[in-house]
Amino acid sequence: MTLAAPQPKPGILEIDPYVPGESSLPAGIKPIKLSSNETPFGPSPKAVEAYRAADAALERYPDGAATKLREAIARRYGLNPARIICGAGSDELLTMLAHAYLGEGDEAIYTQHGFLLYRIIILANGATPVVAPETGLRTDIDAILNRVTERTKMVFLANPNNPTGTYVSFDEIRSLRAQLPPHVLLVLDAAYAEYVRRNDYEAGIELVATTHNTVMTRTFSKIHGLAGLRIGWAYCPEAVADVLNRIRGPFNLSVPSLLAGAAAIEDSAHEEMSVAHNEKWLAWLSGEIAALGLKVTPSVANFILVHFPNEGARTANEADRYLKQRGIIVRKVASYGFPDCLRITIGSVDDNRAVAAALTDFMAGSA
Ligand SMILES: *Cc1c(COP(=O)(O)O)cnc(C)c1O
Repeated sequence: MTLAAPQPKPGILEIDPYVPGESSLPAGIKPIKLSSNETPFGPSPKAVEAYRAADAALERYPDGAATKLREAIARRYGLNPARIICGAGSDELLTMLAHAYLGEGDEAIYTQHGFLLYRIIILANGATPVVAPETGLRTDIDAILNRVTERTKMVFLANPNNPTGTYVSFDEIRSLRAQLPPHVLLVLDAAYAEYVRRNDYEAGIELVATTHNTVMTRTFSKIHGLAGLRIGWAYCPEAVADVLNRIRGPFNLSVPSLLAGAAAIEDSAHEEMSVAHNEKWLAWLSGEIAALGLKVTPSVANFILVHFPNEGARTANEADRYLKQRGIIVRKVASYGFPDCLRITIGSVDDNRAVAAALTDFMAGSA
């Protein structure tokens, strides 16, 4: 007789666990890490200072309402703090949203090369993931609308998307929202919004303010350089904020996170410096790599998707191996449907020069 074993809920065993970007190399080489879209500058020095001040009373619970952090975010963007919910990274907020709005029999849509977390959180709630094809590696609004059924409850859209780096204009997002049924929650994941320098882009604040069924999520992990602390926020319609406040952990952000986050969002000079650096080096690295005969998908974020030949000695896997020998870690993206691509984060001046030089040697065959 076999003993009955505990069984997880339907859907959970269909999940392929998320595989983060690699972060270490063998043999004690100090790597140039360009695999997880982290900033080369680290956090604002003011955020580090605030973080250090947290050691004064570690026995105390944090402010469960994250009041000062929400107020700092609200001041920065001119928002109503009551509609901001903070989380342990935007991952936690996305997970909570799926938990609150999806169940068995529901469907949720994401795009062909969309962020893999969406699939995980949809399946984790017993719902059915529905994939909308992209056109030219860009979100296709009509393809999303064509996949809406009576069961559709949510649409997850990273804008700009990771790992493609492409974006959709505010006009297109507005048109998507207008054509989605009103009961469908549209989640705009704007993890890279700060980097985008396009007049026709809007992260989502305006739609959240003017509709009752759109949420925008943001993160401190990318431009604010606080990925290690896990801080994100969502701007929500009142009813959605109320729902998230009911289900979230009562103390879901730690004291160091609350303090460092508030200091980081106030340091707009640090942010502007990072944006200016990215604008310059995104163009530079894209140009250098394209000049080697490799296709680079035009990006508005802090990373690029580079396409390699699918056979011979110059494949993405060979390039990855070669870059590692040179101490450079980038992101393989086969799990996103790109077996012939690598995603490379824009790094420091030296990092960018190192990756361009290494790829030049690799393509020249001196590898
Ligand atoms: C990096 C990233 C996030 C941020 O996740 P955190 O949990 O806030 O670190 C969210 N969405 C996308 C598409 C990302 O690439």
